Amino acid sequence: MATEKEIVVSGIRPTGYLHLGNYFGAIRNYVRMQEEFNCYFFVADWHSLTTHPDPKDLPGNVMRVLAENIASGLDPEKVSLYVQSDIPEIAELYLLMNMLAYVGELEKVPTFKDKVRLQPQNVNAGLLTYPVLMSVDILIQRAVKVPVGKDQGQHLEMARNFAQRFNARYGDLFPEPVAFNYGDNLIRIQSLDGKGKMSKSENEFATLYLADEDQLIREKLKKAKTDSGTGVIGSPMPESVANLLDLMKLVSTPDVVQFYENAWNNQTIRFKDMKEQLGEDMVKFIAPIREKAKDLQNNTDYLKKVIKAGAEKARANAAQTLQEARRLIGIKYY
Ligand code: ATP
Ligand code: MG
Repeated sequence: MATEKEIVVSGIRPTGYLHLGNYFGAIRNYVRMQEEFNCYFFVADWHSLTTHPDPKDLPGNVMRVLAENIASGLDPEKVSLYVQSDIPEIAELYLLMNMLAYVGELEKVPTFKDKVRLQPQNVNAGLLTYPVLMSVDILIQRAVKVPVGKDQGQHLEMARNFAQRFNARYGDLFPEPVAFNYGDNLIRIQSLDGKGKMSKSENEFATLYLADEDQLIREKLKKAKTDSGTGVIGSPMPESVANLLDLMKLVSTPDVVQFYENAWNNQTIRFKDMKEQLGEDMVKFIAPIREKAKDLQNNTDYLKKVIKAGAEKARANAAQTLQEARRLIGIKYY
């Protein structure tokens, strides 16, 4: 008997332009996983309403995120690529799962506390229950692996808690999903000014977007934070330099990385050269994705076809889980 492929789920919020963090934290893994697993990847439009409730921006953002995923190598023939709001089963399971989530534990989530600080005028209940909805996105497909960046590690832990709680109260239904990255650790791409991670909705000039034009990429890197060399051989590498080297490891050749590692070690490093080199390598990496995404965005008929087909498969799988959840809970009267 053929063994069933393991199920994988991951989502990206349509809150703006995709950046290097999204690529290396999430999409690069999607592209590899599509060859081995049964993959469900989605655009998390409901999630975006917690922070970006502007109807004017939503459709364009959704289409761009789709285009940028496909331009990065995601193949809609191999994965189910869909939009969250096309799967109403998620909303119902979210309602049911909210009965198992405690307000106290949700209030303690660091990302919730961050948002309270960032948007005190709009501390909506959706923000509080964000980890419940995210858990349901994953659990409803009965996924076991979730390719995400480091910032989502804690949310994944909550998904496991909710799965356990449901299974203990009502009977076994959900596997416990784990965060996944092909390397050893989950990835976090720091912003170029060293303040926090690269992000779609914050830190615009310190984030490298997959849509950035060549010149802008070079300029952003030119302005990236570097400390001056210490001149003392053996001194520990400051975080700003380590961040640039980390970026080099992702887009430059190994000998370039080695050259600048050596240059730091013997304190002959010239940051201007280093940033120019990184700029050129970054342009080579980003430009093809950017151009392909532009073409795809002009082909909305194709993108619509993709999400329709993706939703059909994702809905069928979600509906089975929801039906089982209802039965276990006792919602079955005729
Ligand atoms: P927003 O600021 O709107 O929340 P975001 O950049 O954090 O946008 P998300 O849509 O929340 O992006 O996350 C999409 C995926 O990208 C997740 O798997 C997340 O872990 C990953 N990710 C986001 N930022 C980074 C980063 N700087 N480094 C590594 N992975 C990241
Ligand atoms: Mg985020």
